[in-house]
Amino acid sequence: MIPKRLSWISEARSLLQGRAPAQLVLQFTDACNAHCPQCGMRASANFSRSRLQVEQGKRMITRAARSGVRALSLTGGEPFLYQDDLFTLLDHAGREGIPYLRTGTNGFLFRDSDREDFPAHIETFVCRLVASPLRNFWISLDSASLEVHEEMRGLPGVVEGIRKALPLFHRQGLYPAANLGLNRNLPGSDEPTDKKAFDSWYEDGLRRFFEMAIDLGFTTINFCYPMSSEDATDGEDSLYQATSADRVVRFTVEERKSIYRALFRVIPDYRKRIRIFTPRSALYRLVKGQEGAGTDYPCRGGIDFFFASADSGRVYPCGYRSDEDFGPLEEFSLPARSEAHCTRCDWECFRDPSETLGPLLQWKNPVGLWRSWKQDPDFFSLWWEDLRYYQACGWFSGRKAPEKPRLQAFHRLFPVTGGMDLPAHPEPPVQPSV
Ligand code: SF4
Ligand code: SF4
Repeated sequence: MIPKRLSWISEARSLLQGRAPAQLVLQFTDACNAHCPQCGMRASANFSRSRLQVEQGKRMITRAARSGVRALSLTGGEPFLYQDDLFTLLDHAGREGIPYLRTGTNGFLFRDSDREDFPAHIETFVCRLVASPLRNFWISLDSASLEVHEEMRGLPGVVEGIRKALPLFHRQGLYPAANLGLNRNLPGSDEPTDKKAFDSWYEDGLRRFFEMAIDLGFTTINFCYPMSSEDATDGEDSLYQATSADRVVRFTVEERKSIYRALFRVIPDYRKRIRIFTPRSALYRLVKGQEGAGTDYPCRGGIDFFFASADSGRVYPCGYRSDEDFGPLEEFSLPARSEAHCTRCDWECFRDPSETLGPLLQWKNPVGLWRSWKQDPDFFSLWWEDLRYYQACGWFSGRKAPEKPRLQAFHRLFPVTGGMDLPAHPEPPVQPSV
């Protein structure tokens, strides 16, 4: 096993082979105690719940690690309903040498923050997280209005608990990210009936959301794109039941474009104040995709990225392509390298890294890379800007505080504002001889 501090060697080896470092989203449980209308796993949804048993989970993780998985997300449902098992699996994944471990919570642990023993209780929880090999920890947040968030989740008082808990996290060197699934309640105010006002209403909501997350004490933020299509059902149209028939996450193509454009516009204004994981190059490509222009870097689901469900323990290309079954995770090995082709959905877990890693994976084909650049230099400008930003953010390690001077230096280099009218292009790469 490669020592953790040298784990970049494995990542470099994957890239040299034209593959993204393998990522697995392993659904630990589909049980949940929250009531989110945007999700088919909400507590009131009527289906039989499951979770991985520890010994089976360990065998799965061992197999994943030995197959070359470098990034593992243990997701839910609400993973922290079964904390002891979750920590056991995280520790096991660390021992197996998986360096990029993530999990998160709906925040139910932060309720009742008026209780006298709240700080001690949270300190114990944070100590446990810090002692684990976890790299990134997220806390969900749905709206710029705290009341709306708590109502959507059905978790009253949770936001005040988050505000009190974050300094305790930071003191111990763990920096949770706010995780927002884009939805209609984000602005926290009534949706305008005039469609022309949708853009500015949503943009204003995003700005208030950023201010609120910064005010709460978050240092990192990530956006999840809407998953439900116009004809979505409550989790029934996907393996990963995170879709919903509720209007709160059902958008027309035009609305999606508006939302992505608004986020694209707003991100540069906040990049020096909070680390924002969402790459603008991916947003740009999503908008182009909605306009029918496609992308040179489709999703790597089923090639380098995979999903395993809690109820079957089987592996699929992602949480949505249920008809392609790679078999039990306990017997998994990476499929042979093949060309990426899928752009069926906007699942950010897979789409963002596919776009971000895309140009790097093309290194063996310099002519193709040159053509991609010629065809869409704006994408490459944004891509380069995103890479520089990721670097300024310390590659988003949840174990590191943001370095304000680096974020400010980035902002001086890329003081971009505005819409999808893009900045001047950088010099093109040297044309390869053919
Ligand atoms: S979004 Fe998360 S917290 Fe909300 S119901 Fe779904 S799994 Fe539970
Ligand atoms: S685009 Fe969506 S459906 Fe296609 S592989 Fe990626 S996550 Fe799966």
